[in-house]
Formats: sequence, C-alpha cells, structure tokens
Amino acid sequence: MSENRGNDDAVPDSRMGALILELRQCGVTDSTVLSVIETTPRDIFLPEPFKARAFENVALPIGHHQTVSQPAVVGLMTQELEVTDRHKVLEIGTGSGYQAIILAKLCRRLYTVERHPALLKIAEQRFVDMKLTNITAIARDGAGGWPEQAPFERILIAAAAADVPPVLFNQLAVGGIMIVPVGLDESDQRLIKVTRTEDGAETRDLGPTRFVPLMDGMPGAEN
Ligand code: SAH
Repeated sequence: MSENRGNDDAVPDSRMGALILELRQCGVTDSTVLSVIETTPRDIFLPEPFKARAFENVALPIGHHQTVSQPAVVGLMTQELEVTDRHKVLEIGTGSGYQAIILAKLCRRLYTVERHPALLKIAEQRFVDMKLTNITAIARDGAGGWPEQAPFERILIAAAAADVPPVLFNQLAVGGIMIVPVGLDESDQRLIKVTRTEDGAETRDLGPTRFVPLMDGMPGAEN
C-alpha cells in the first residue's frame, strides 16, 4: 500500500516547539507573533551548511558578512513594533528576507530596503515562493529610507545605527513606532523603541542587543 509521507521539507515540529518555548522564556509572549514565527520555517532562509541549525536561537551567516538575526531578537522586535494589518511598514536591511516575511504576514504592506543586490535577489525569490504579495523590495542605501512611500506607521531597522536616524524618524507617521539598534560598538548596543508623538518622540530602551552595523552607501566589489 502506498502512503503519502507528506512534504519532506515540512517543519520538524519538535525542534520548532523547543524554539517557541525558548522564545517565550526570552519574553516573546504575543501569541500572534509566536504563531507567525512557528509557521515560518527558518531553514528556508539559510545557506545549506547552516540549515541544520535553523531552529537554534542563534544568529547565523547568510553571506556577504551578514547574518540572519537570532529568532528571539526577531520575536522581540516584531512584538515591540505592535504591527497590525492596517500598517504600512518599512524595514531597512532585508538580508535573508526572514524578518521581512514575518512582518509581511502581520502588516498591510511591507517596504523593505537592502544595499546588497545579491542578497535582495535571493530574498525576493523567497517572497515569491512563499506567495507573499504585499512586499515591495528595493536595492538601495537604506540610510535615506523610502521617501516616495513615507510616512510609515512602523519602521524596523535591522542593522545598528550610531543614533536614532533623523531621516528615518522623519518618515515615521505621528503615533508610529520605530525599533532601532543603537551603538556602533558591537559589544555595547541597545535596542531602542521610538514612538513619534505630536511634538517629538518618546524613547524606551529595550535592553542590550548585537547587530551588524548599518553600512554607508552601496557595496563595492570587495563586499
Ligand atoms: N533582517 C535580516 C537580517 C538583517 S542583517 C534577516 O531577517 O535576514 C542586516 C542587513 O542590513 C544586511 O543584509 C545588510 O546588508 C543590510 N544593510 C546594512 N546597511 C544597510 C544600508 N545602509 N541600507 C540597506 N541595507 C543595509
């Protein structure tokens, strides 16, 4: 008798279950955020040698000296961003597309910017493969944001800046939230949550974090 053994690429439930438990222990408690992470297998976003470690709560290399963030960090940033399906969201640093897909499953429309055209091409194929049609991606220096599409209700910056970038803050709607890792010394960075108010900003420190730096301009031949 033949038997349908299902999709060989299906998510290994026990490893994903363990990861979700770990995320809860790290403070990711929002059930919507957890369920989006649970239904987004992270191995798809990794090069072959690292696929086996996809369900570990660690950052992993994706090429061009970049990493896909630790799942707990993705979870916390997404949770603190308080995204709903009414929001237009901007992400700076598409990388593998993992965080982008998690945001796109929660928001109305995601705009995502990546300075490495090669990384962006692979991420865009993943958006197509995963049938996500509410993502618009562009290869450019994210320091300038995406003025043509501003304002955004939410902005997530996936690389560390020296300070809250004024150009990006100006593209945030009043009442909007930005999450940004601040600090260029990798061992001394803080994850900052900025809410734009009528007459300024409210800032909250979400704790220590570790991100690759936001780079200037487009990559040269060397990187
Ligand atoms: N969110 C990604 C991980 C981001 S790693 C994921 O889920 O995989 C940080 C990314 O920011 C890298 O891909 C890096 O190339 C990109 N980056 C760094 N500086 C940038 C800039 N100035 N403009 C756009 N992207 C930038």
